[in-house]
Amino acid sequence: MAIRTGKDYMDGLKSRPREVWLEGRRVTDIVNEPNFRQPIKEIARLYDMQHDPKHQDKITGICEETGERVSNAFIVPKSYEDLMKRRALYETWAEATFGLMGRSPDFLNVTVTSMASNYKFFEKYNASWAENIVNYYKHVRDNDLFLTHALINPQNDRSKAAHEQKDMFTHLGAVEETSEGIIVRGAKMLATFAPITDEVIIYPFPGFKPGDERYVLSFAIPIDTPGLRIVCREPVQSGKRPIFDHPLASRFEEMDAVLVFNDVLVPWNRIFAYNNLEAGNTVYAQTGLSQNTHQNGVRGLTKLRFAQQVASRVADAIGVDGFLNVQTQLGELVQSVETIRALLRTAENEYAINENGEAVPSFTSLETIRGILPKAYPRAIEIIQTIGAGGLLLSPTGYDFENTELREDIDKYYGGREGVDAYDRVRLFKLAWDLSGEAFGQRLVQYERYYSGDPVRKLGMFYSNYKKKHFDSLTMVDRALEQNETKKNVSLNK
Ligand SMILES: Cc1cc2nc3c(=O)[nH]c(=O)nc-3n(C[C@H](O)[C@H](O)[C@H](O)COP(=O)(O)OP(=O)(O)OC[C@H]3O[C@@H](n4cnc5c(N)ncnc54)[C@H](O)[C@@H]3O)c2cc1C
Repeated sequence: MAIRTGKDYMDGLKSRPREVWLEGRRVTDIVNEPNFRQPIKEIARLYDMQHDPKHQDKITGICEETGERVSNAFIVPKSYEDLMKRRALYETWAEATFGLMGRSPDFLNVTVTSMASNYKFFEKYNASWAENIVNYYKHVRDNDLFLTHALINPQNDRSKAAHEQKDMFTHLGAVEETSEGIIVRGAKMLATFAPITDEVIIYPFPGFKPGDERYVLSFAIPIDTPGLRIVCREPVQSGKRPIFDHPLASRFEEMDAVLVFNDVLVPWNRIFAYNNLEAGNTVYAQTGLSQNTHQNGVRGLTKLRFAQQVASRVADAIGVDGFLNVQTQLGELVQSVETIRALLRTAENEYAINENGEAVPSFTSLETIRGILPKAYPRAIEIIQTIGAGGLLLSPTGYDFENTELREDIDKYYGGREGVDAYDRVRLFKLAWDLSGEAFGQRLVQYERYYSGDPVRKLGMFYSNYKKKHFDSLTMVDRALEQNETKKNVSLNK
């Protein structure tokens, strides 16, 4: 069966030691590392859901080619119904993690599936790239792998192209070709979940200029490939902070990392694009994008709904939800959720079948979600902060609750409105602060802004593409001008 259990996933992590650096030390036991232990359990839980009769038929299906059961992420959608099956997977996993784990395995599994079903794009440039991406898709599908990706160059001097940086291999580039493959050197970011995945896929983000040829690289390799170093950012939780005090941060941290490639050999059969500026600048838009943007939309909606529900519960717990200023903020949040929900429905209802027979949701609607969420989500967090106010900062710890000397005061002074005792109010406010105040919550805000590129440039690209597609059909303006038709040499008063 090509669907893994949580145990299969964890056994895979144990059997493949990788080079992970965290707070200046090398992590040797990934599964038992306090900072990773709980997030690994959360991912394992997602894999276990594939075997749970309650979810199995909803999130997995039978692969036509192999007859094996696989995740819906690996089934190429051919119809609206297929797209809805994919959505069911995104939604089920997003609900299980409250939308807080953006890079759950479905995100890149869907991307790879879509790259493979768009193999003709690769074939245009090189027949072996097409063959490689299709074989890679089968490898990921049949082993139910968890991938990370790193598309962005390290943030050194953004005013210069890759080949103009101080060191030729600051940005990841090809050093030399050998009979076995390409030796690559340099860094890429921002590989979310890298320490606890199975493989990394690199594909280019547009922006290459002449001279950048060696930096056009798309490939995938196991995360334990010799020479690949994973340098983690500072954790947002120590792994020792109790779940009671940090109900979200202690469970759902997605570790981000910079990947440093120290002369890593990428075998030829794992190369999907190389040394071609045109391919480098178009692969992102012309292969897997619409499909993973669909996952982003479903997951983003779940996260926004979660924030909206947290805000409502906080208001309710302290009896402020009857005040007009609070109601307008909560109403605004509900309308944000409804806007994203409607856009998602439109994206799905207005799907198209592309030239490869793949059903793709409307990119315009999905990109509109992508444009709105970086504003709507930070606003949701601001509303939680505004409504929770000072109370968000004053929650006692679980240890305080256990202290009999303090408990009477806590029960008296920390309760909420009638019916909300101190224990329930404090638990709720801790959850709200994890989401809105802690480093964990701030990363979630930053994620929503930047997870699929710079929203500023993306909006610019969105408008340019929209104009290309729709400018000719801006007929209302022409009609309005025609109805008032005046010739240049005709008197304006007639
Ligand atoms: C929490 C989190 C998780 C992420 N996970 C992943 C991941 O798993 N894999 C992955 O590949 N990436 C990931 N990303 C990275 C994401 O793709 C980048 O952050 C995003 O593309 C923006 O790039 P940057 O951070 O280098 O910002 P920069 O490009 O350096 O931008 C910095 C600022 O300068 C402006 N700017 C820069 N260049 C230009 C220009 N040419 N024109 C106009 N304005 C410009 C930008 O608008 C921005 O305000 C993640 C990011 C975050 C925050």
